[in-house]
Amino acid sequence: MSRSWMRTLLGVVVLVLALSGTGVAQAEQARDVTAAANPATWSPPSNLVTPLNQVWSHQESTYGNLYGFRNYGWDQVFVNGGYLNFCVRWDSSAPVSASLRDRIHAKLAEQYKKWTDVMVGHNNWPYASVPIKVVGWAVRDRNTLQWNDNSVDIYVNNIRENAPQCAEACGRFFVRDGQYRNCPGGVARHYDQSLWLTAGMGGGAGGDWGQRMGSEYFVNNLGSSSMTILLHEIGHTFGLDDFYDWTPSGVSNFIMKAGSSASITEFDIWMFRDWWRHLKSRYGR
Ligand SMILES: [Zn+2]
Repeated sequence: MSRSWMRTLLGVVVLVLALSGTGVAQAEQARDVTAAANPATWSPPSNLVTPLNQVWSHQESTYGNLYGFRNYGWDQVFVNGGYLNFCVRWDSSAPVSASLRDRIHAKLAEQYKKWTDVMVGHNNWPYASVPIKVVGWAVRDRNTLQWNDNSVDIYVNNIRENAPQCAEACGRFFVRDGQYRNCPGGVARHYDQSLWLTAGMGGGAGGDWGQRMGSEYFVNNLGSSSMTILLHEIGHTFGLDDFYDWTPSGVSNFIMKAGSSASITEFDIWMFRDWWRHLKSRYGR
């Protein structure tokens, strides 16, 4: 499938290939070393400067509205003052227990933190953490969700794109004034992104609207330290590009290059930080 450039930033599908254990171990090691450092200034390793500049130039020449687009993940975090809310679009008939609901929430938060933690203390980023909260679940049939508490809002058979979704009046993708006047729960129960889980889907997609992948993939990877497709798609939410048709000089394995790394690498981290470097003036930082 292809990338879509309308109101969404990116709608990209990726197939992730199996990796050797060695490659995964090296990538994890690279990430741990760099994330621990979190240098306060823009100071990438010298060998990454050229490929980072190539990536930014490529994005400038291929993104239609790179500097004018106002719904990157960065924008959403700042509008909220440092958190993100989610709707889970459960496009599956598989039952979800309260326990599974909570594990999905926890895994989403844990994986998101792998990206946002690399910003802590870096280049005038103001947040010590970016809490992730699931505020709603959307399903076709209420009986699919096997809980009766009120911890999340539940939306039944509200269909768009042939999949259940939470109320549009509560969604950042649809409402941009930050007020959510027509959302029953108001600002507190609005959602910025959707975690869209589709039965039988391979690969994934990501954009300003959230991340999409197979429901089985997500559930089967609840025990994985790095949920590769989710991490890749979160990268898209924050503007990062795909690398299907070219490769920056001197770097060959990173999570945004589908199939080349199971986890976030040092190059991914610096591409992420490069987005912040280029956008931070819009937040007065
Ligand atoms: Zn992609």
